[in-house]
Parts: sequence; C-alpha cells; structure tokens
Amino acid sequence: MDYLPVFLELRARPAVVVGGGAVGLRKVSWLLRAQASVTVIAGELHAELAALAAGGQITHRAGQFSAQQLCGAVLVVAATDDREVNRAVSLAARAQNIPVNVVDDGELSTFIFPALIERAPLLVAVSSCGHSPVLARWVREQIEALLPARIGALARFLGARRQSVKRTLAALARRAFWEGIVTGAVGSRVLAGDEAAAEDGFVRELRSAQLTAGAHPAGAPLGEVYLIGAGPGDPDLLTLRALQLLQRCDVILYDRLVSPAVLERARRDAERIFVGKESGERGQQERINALLVSLARAGKRVARLKGGDPFVFGRGGEELALLAAHEIPCIVVPGITAALGAAACAEIPLTHRHLAQSVTFVNGHQREGAPADWRFFANPSHTIVFYMASAQLPEIVARLRAAGAAAGHPAALIEQATLPQQRVLRGSLADIAALAAAAGIGPPALLIVGEVAAFAPAEALAQVGVPARSAGALA
Ligand code: SAH
Repeated sequence: MDYLPVFLELRARPAVVVGGGAVGLRKVSWLLRAQASVTVIAGELHAELAALAAGGQITHRAGQFSAQQLCGAVLVVAATDDREVNRAVSLAARAQNIPVNVVDDGELSTFIFPALIERAPLLVAVSSCGHSPVLARWVREQIEALLPARIGALARFLGARRQSVKRTLAALARRAFWEGIVTGAVGSRVLAGDEAAAEDGFVRELRSAQLTAGAHPAGAPLGEVYLIGAGPGDPDLLTLRALQLLQRCDVILYDRLVSPAVLERARRDAERIFVGKESGERGQQERINALLVSLARAGKRVARLKGGDPFVFGRGGEELALLAAHEIPCIVVPGITAALGAAACAEIPLTHRHLAQSVTFVNGHQREGAPADWRFFANPSHTIVFYMASAQLPEIVARLRAAGAAAGHPAALIEQATLPQQRVLRGSLADIAALAAAAGIGPPALLIVGEVAAFAPAEALAQVGVPARSAGALA
C-alpha cells in the first residue's frame, strides 16, 4: 500500500493553498467544506476566490510564495501552473513535516485527494494512488449508483440513536442489532424517506432485542417486500432504486418476463424462486401470495420482481393490497413498462405533435364481450399499445376494423423488446397478422397501432411539421 487512507478533522485548522486559479478554487472549496481555516497565496485570484476573500471566508496573501508562510499550517496544497513554484512549496512543506499535495504531481506530493462520494455524514473515498484518476472516478460512479440518495440521512438516523442502544444492549447483542437495523425494514424506511415509520420500527426492534437478548441476540427482525419493476428486459433499463434493493434482498420471487441478465444484477447469495405463470395456470397467484407472506413473516427481505412496471398489467395492486392486509411493509419501485421500452427501441414516438395526442395501454388478451369502446381506438391520431397481443392478433385486428379503422391504419409489432433477440415488424391492419404469422412472432410481443406506428425519423425530418405518411394515403 503506497498511501494510508485517513479522514482528517480540519475544523478551524490552518490550511494553505498556493495558487489562485480554477484548480486552486476546487481545492479551496473542499477545504472549506471540511471547515478549515484557509489561506490562499497568489498574485491574482480567480473571481470566486476573490469573492470568498472579500466575504472573509478565506484569507488572501498577495505576492510571492515564501517558506515561512507555511509555518503552523496542518495541510498544504500547491496548485500553481509553475512547476518550480510547486516544487518550492513541496520542499518547504516537507522540511516542516507538513502533508503537501501538488495537484497532478504524485512525485512532489506526500498526500493525494481521493475521488469522493459525499452523502454527509457518510463519505466514500476512492483512489488509484495516482495511477489513473479517470479509473478512480469511474469506480466512484459505479459505487455512487449503488448508494441510495438518502444514505446520509440513514447515517444520521443511526448516529442519533447510538447512545440509547449502547445503554440498552450489551456489546455482543449490539452488532447483530445494528446489522438488522441497517439492512432491514427500519433502514429501508429511512432510505424511502419515511422516518416516522422508521422510528416506530426502531423502537419496536430495540424493545424486542432487549427482551430476547438472552435467547436470540439479534431479536426477531421485521421482514418486508419490495415490489420492483424489472423493466422490459435490458438490465441497463433498471432504475437505480431497483438495483439498490436487489442488492439488499434475501429472496427474489421473479416472473417469466424477468430476463436472466436482470437477475444477474441481484445479490449473488439471494435465493431465487421462479413464480412465473404459464397462461391459464390456476392457483399460481395464491402460491405467490402465500410465499410473500410467509417469507416476510420469517423476517426476509423479499424482492418481488416483475417484468416492466409492477402496476401495468402486473397484478401489483393485488399484491400490495395483500401485503397491507397482513401489515407487511412494502416499497414499490416503478419500472420501465414494455410499451416505453419497445417504443424507444423501435423508434416509434408514442405521442407526437402532429401524429398522436394521446396513448392508451390495452390488455390485448381480453375475454369476449370486453367493454371498451373500440371506436375511439380506431382513430389513427390516437396511439394504442396492446399488451399480450401475439396470441390474439387476428381478433384484435378484426375488432379494430369492425370499429371503423381503415385497412391501411399503421401497425407495428415488437417482439422481445430491448433484448438482443428483439424483432420489429411494421405494416398496417391489412397485413400485420399475416406478417406476424409468417415471421413466427410469439410472446412477449406488443402491438402498436396508430399513425405513429409508421413514423420514420428521416422522413419526418425531411418534411418538418408534416406527417410522414397518412393513414388515408395507405388505405
Ligand atoms: N408489467 C409488464 C406487463 C406484463 S403483461 C410491463 O409493464 O411491461 C405481459 C405483456 O407485456 C406481454 O404479453 C407483452 O405484451 C408485454 N411485454 C413485456 N415485456 C416485453 C418485451 N420485452 N417485449 C415486448 N413485449 C413485452
């Protein structure tokens, strides 16, 4: 190890920055955030530094650098664009045993600044020890994506309760208790922004830990369920919150539409249970309900992972109601629904200033006598996205035609949207069913109907403001 990572307390301590340009400003900002007492030595000051000096937040010493100016400093930064000056600063600091950083010059530095994630009071510092700042920043971004936005609030929440836990629990029981709080329902409540519920849970868990400390040092943790939308298939379309909770859960109940690539992103040692419904299979939802309740009751963090969005043709509402009835805490995480994923991949804008003013998502797998008024769907300047469309494509087309849609009404069929196997067929009501049969299109597939289904970006660009193709012309 070439460097020892430490966090310095600099409050009100003297720190010196030599150099008053943009680079110096960046370092001064960091030092001010750590509440250091900052002196900047520079002939000229960047406008923002000048403002800080005028406001009394930093001290400015004009003129040349001299070694005596470092006297008493606990930290020195050289940020001039003159290597000789930087070298002189480095020599002077080292002679006085003051840690010194010369920006972008490892040889002259005795300490380096890490790439930092600041979610105060939580800090994550990453360094490549000068080998590749770009790599360090990239690693920081990867970690940042995994850290919930409210992780700092969680740190504060825990910090504020340390003393009371210390008074209540013996040292041995404490660690297990804290682990249960951080990784369990109380932690997730804080991260979801509900500190009142978190406080209730905390008090309950502390009491139970106190009562059971002899028998089970950790007490019985509360389980919970995350109702997560997994998006249309491409794992890069997961939300950050989905990713964070997938890293946190103990068990995953997943549907057929959840792609293996998405499951790959979940915690390695989380148990995976497939609960996909083959169409028409009865009793499966009851099995899922029973599993959700029993796992959560056993104290597990259960990720209920559904394709697309849990509230779009996903029975998310029913599962939410079930959990509420059993008083099991639940967090709902939206996902990119298949219609949005498919539209993006097929480059079909679902609404368009000239082509479509509204969009409707319809269950294409409707039983006979479905109530919707299809005359509205027959209007080509309204976009309809039919989910579960592949099996009943001819019936859907027939109903649209019967409701008054023209034969040339544009239609597009997208199979396995956002996945490497994705296929897009474009046509009209006259031929889309035949095209699909010839291509052997199967589930999962979506049918998009409306003027936008014929959208061609190049044409639209060529005739700005004019619809690329009109249904009438095709009919
Ligand atoms: N909750 C899901 C929809 C579940 S219903 C969501 O929000 O997307 C299942 C239907 O979704 C499938 O029959 C299909 O019509 C559609 N679907 C889901 N993923 C798809 C994909 N990758 N490509 C095309 N259609 C998809």
